[in-house]
Amino acid sequence: MDSKYTQLRIFFFPFMAQGHSIPAIDMAKLFASRGVNVSIITTPLNAPRLAKSINNSGHPGREIELLIINFPSATVGLPDGCESLDLARSPDMFQSFFRATTMLEPEIDRILEQHRPHCLVADTFFPWTTDVAAKYGIPRVVFHGTCFFSLSAAASIIANRPFDKVSSDLEPFVIPNLPHEIKLTRSQVPGFLKEEVETDFIKLYRASKEVESRCYGFLINSFYELEPAYADYYRNVMGRRAWHIGPLSLYSNVKEDKAQRGDSVSIDEHDCLKWLDSKNPNSVLYVSFGSLANLTNSQLLEIAKGLEATGQDFIWVVRKEIHDQEEWLPEGFEKRIEGKGLIIRGWAPQVLILDHRSIGGFVTHCGWNSALEGVTAGLPMVTWPNSAEQFYNEKLITDVLKIGVSVGAMHWGRAGKDLITSEAIEKAVNRVMVGEEAEGMRSRAEALGIQAREAIEDGGSSFSDLKAFFDDIRSRI
Ligand code: UDP
Repeated sequence: MDSKYTQLRIFFFPFMAQGHSIPAIDMAKLFASRGVNVSIITTPLNAPRLAKSINNSGHPGREIELLIINFPSATVGLPDGCESLDLARSPDMFQSFFRATTMLEPEIDRILEQHRPHCLVADTFFPWTTDVAAKYGIPRVVFHGTCFFSLSAAASIIANRPFDKVSSDLEPFVIPNLPHEIKLTRSQVPGFLKEEVETDFIKLYRASKEVESRCYGFLINSFYELEPAYADYYRNVMGRRAWHIGPLSLYSNVKEDKAQRGDSVSIDEHDCLKWLDSKNPNSVLYVSFGSLANLTNSQLLEIAKGLEATGQDFIWVVRKEIHDQEEWLPEGFEKRIEGKGLIIRGWAPQVLILDHRSIGGFVTHCGWNSALEGVTAGLPMVTWPNSAEQFYNEKLITDVLKIGVSVGAMHWGRAGKDLITSEAIEKAVNRVMVGEEAEGMRSRAEALGIQAREAIEDGGSSFSDLKAFFDDIRSRI
């Protein structure tokens, strides 16, 4: 606790999806541990999930308060309780979900008017909070949940539309004006940047970008040493006031906290760790596609075949329930992989697993939290992006940091529809798990993992930026 910051009162308003709320909670806990008075605004269904993750009795510093607002599921035709994006399981529900979030303005207005915090840290998908906060003289700070690299790449693509200048979906173009020569194809550009139709999501995305020049600043879950050229680019070329304070997943050293991130885990974490304890260092592959991606049964079947063909030990997280039809597994698969492979159906204690010394590689969809957790754990990665900013994150991992190889996903938003074959999976996995190339990637990743830890320690780059952020907000009161 730092007595300098105890008079600071900061509110968080995280977007209702695990990829956004997990790092926001980490941030809230970090701020509270430094003495800041922190509240998180959330909805009735998300509140118990958050309360569990916050673990008020178990974290150092001040207690975190939850402020509950109603979520208008019924108004937009969503089922009762559909208050988290992972529960919006069809394209229509997805759009309705985003529409519902734009209706929260009166509730946030009421809370800000009543409590008058010194700062509101609100997710990028709540662009309207900038003006509501401004009404009360409160600075709104944006949390995107992604890295400097992908923010810079996205800004260049939006401004220059280089994908309009190529003649086919698969012809590569260079993303203009970035510090490195980064190539992408039109097929890898987010669908919502190319689409002419105005969906609820596209409207919101556009609004979130338009409002940025009027936002007070940006908190970034990254560390300077990971992407110095892009941290500088974002600040100096794009002119954004930003503080990097990550990796956020590193701040919690409590085992229970790491196991409770995001949701209730579908496996006894002690059994899982015991299983990993019985394996050799760097010998187990971890496979996960985050909290949202839904792969088709035929894609899952290819993954199963690919994993078996590598002969590597693995932990594979599948977003399926135990009672779902199991036709996505090859005949006799589980018997054959007994002792070699562990399938977690549902939610895994990901950070606990990644940090185990037996894990030697990570097949990831390149959601920024997962990618950064992989870096922090010093792991080489097989990159398998699907949507959002994942194709940009892939380029950071493979082309800039050189700690991963691509599985070869070519099309934005089509995971599972454009089948990645078991042969391609086998080849990519072998490249990160065995041989000289794997060793090179692993040693680069391990060096970054060490730098990540140094960044959050006293005097480190993220430690200093966090203080700079607090001092900035404090100087306004
Ligand atoms: N996560 C987890 N267990 C799972 C799946 C995901 O703990 O079974 C966590 C993961 O560690 C990460 C977050 O959920 O912190 C997912 O965020 P990410 O940005 O990687 O992807 P998204 O889910 O937003 O696509």
